[in-house]
Amino acid sequence: MKPPQFAYQQARTLDEAVVLLGEHKEARLLAGGQSLIATLNMRLSAPTLLIDINRIGGLDRIASTGGMVEIGALARHAQAERSDVIAKYAPLIARAIPHIGHPAIRNRGTLGGSIAFADPAAELPACLLALDGEVEATGPKGARNIKAEAFFKGLFETALGPQEVLTAIRVPAAGKDTRVGFAELARRHGDYAIVGLAACARANGKGLADVRLAYFGVGATPMRARKAESALNGTIDDKRIDAAIAALDLNPHDDAQASGAVKKHLAGVLLRRVAMQLLEARP
Ligand code: FAD
Repeated sequence: MKPPQFAYQQARTLDEAVVLLGEHKEARLLAGGQSLIATLNMRLSAPTLLIDINRIGGLDRIASTGGMVEIGALARHAQAERSDVIAKYAPLIARAIPHIGHPAIRNRGTLGGSIAFADPAAELPACLLALDGEVEATGPKGARNIKAEAFFKGLFETALGPQEVLTAIRVPAAGKDTRVGFAELARRHGDYAIVGLAACARANGKGLADVRLAYFGVGATPMRARKAESALNGTIDDKRIDAAIAALDLNPHDDAQASGAVKKHLAGVLLRRVAMQLLEARP
């Protein structure tokens, strides 16, 4: 299918993008286009103007400073996949990215686009939530930070204002005792997950503390499983993992991929896999 007619304008600066968003209520930002163009072609969206932000300088920076890893909104998935900073200080994101689509999609798609699009079955929103990360949003009044917990508000709905551009995401830099785990079940590698799990914790002797489990593909947003998190803190053995699975506080609905009951079962399968990953020391 062909998209409905739209106008196109390049923003050369962040200010220009913000002003254009203010002037055109039915405009959409165009980053990698890997989700937006598909929704236009399927006529799920009909913006009157696409504001191309790809030429705005400085928005693709990946850096670790002050105990945080900052990833500019225009950093491509492939760029993050190759980044030494991400490998060392954001290992959960490094593990998740190869599961996003295919190389051609990762060459164009941006981290900012993935987070702003907020697909409930996408990997990166769940990683941001598991890591207790934050989003930087820039609008007419300047920049503000929004915690991941408050950012994902509903199905494809975020806390971004109509005139705000997502400019960066930040996650705490992994330390020596940081442990991460990631697993998803998809029909084929590169497909959106039926169910996925991004997790992080702190090594505590032979066990784990501060476990955070963020599931994707189980609801309208990425979801914490708080009761299972509590059950997993401590020395990890089969009994504790069984208890965490029994405590899984998720209520997935049926969707085109699987029934809610199957998803809940798969969430337990992933929990067992990820719990074992969380025990692995980092290289
Ligand atoms: P765009 O498509 O350009 O934009 C997406 C939306 O976000 C638009 O509404 C746009 O206005 C908004 N937006 C973009 N950037 C910003 C910004 N900086 N500030 C505010 N709003 C912004 N994704 C996955 O997570 N997992 C998958 O398994 C997966 N598989 C895919 C398979 C296929 C075949 C395809 C085509 C895509 C797949 N994707 C998958 C989507 C891909 O990851 C996209 O790159 C990503 O979702 C959006 O990033 P983008 O840069 O392409 O954004």
